[in-house]
Amino acid sequence: MSKLRILVPVKRVIDFAIKPRINKAGTGVEKKGVKFSINPFCDIALEESLRIREANKGLVEQIHAVSIGPTKAQDVLRTALAKGADSTTLIDVGEEEIEPLSVAKMLQKIVEKEKSNLIILGKQAIDDDANQTGQMLAGLLNWPQATNASKVEIEGDQVTVTREVDGGADTLSAKLPMIITTDLRLNEPRYASLPNVMKAKKKPLEKLKASDLQIELTNRLEILKVEEPPQRDAGVKVESVDELIAKLKELKAI
Ligand code: AMP
Repeated sequence: MSKLRILVPVKRVIDFAIKPRINKAGTGVEKKGVKFSINPFCDIALEESLRIREANKGLVEQIHAVSIGPTKAQDVLRTALAKGADSTTLIDVGEEEIEPLSVAKMLQKIVEKEKSNLIILGKQAIDDDANQTGQMLAGLLNWPQATNASKVEIEGDQVTVTREVDGGADTLSAKLPMIITTDLRLNEPRYASLPNVMKAKKKPLEKLKASDLQIELTNRLEILKVEEPPQRDAGVKVESVDELIAKLKELKAI
């Protein structure tokens, strides 16, 4: 039975509770003066790896978190360490947005370096909503993948994943090494306690650049326009079905 070496990629994104504002150029969202946090689906991925370790004593050899982003992405790695990750890597790429294929190529190098045999990612980053990185990484590594996981069970080298699909659930099984992406209902992430936040400051945080991994960062897509959804007109309250029908007729909706 293989010991688990789990890799959890965590992205730093604008906090989910903040309503993003579009920048003046209309090419992205305003990032200045905004609170950033760990991407919620990545937090779920980290939580799942911690639960696997807690539920299977001695099975997990390492939980390694990795983030690709600006120097400030260290903050999400410190949070991961405070919650229970053993070690982390920051790949500092500055402020540039990196496309999922380049992210997946860098993650592939970290998988090789850390000898990971289970990778748990978020199903999507809430900033680009790409929903691509896990799938591309599975392609690059030629590993089996289970996306949108709502339940994960491990027995020896066999991993069973229940996936959320339209109108039901789909259960898959595969042998390690494997890639899993997390859905919202997989678990509820814990908070980091203050003593653990303090202890995390002493845990390992390795810093690399894309060039250290011999990866060239070439984006192939250009964002032309980012728009707010159209404003909706205010609704009208009606007292009865008759009034509703009259209103719909007035609006020529029926
Ligand atoms: P995406 O394909 O961009 O929607 O992201 C899906 C998942 O890939 C995220 O939840 C993360 O687990 C991982 N990921 C994407 N971008 C990054 C990044 N810059 N750093 C670390 N992990 C990332």
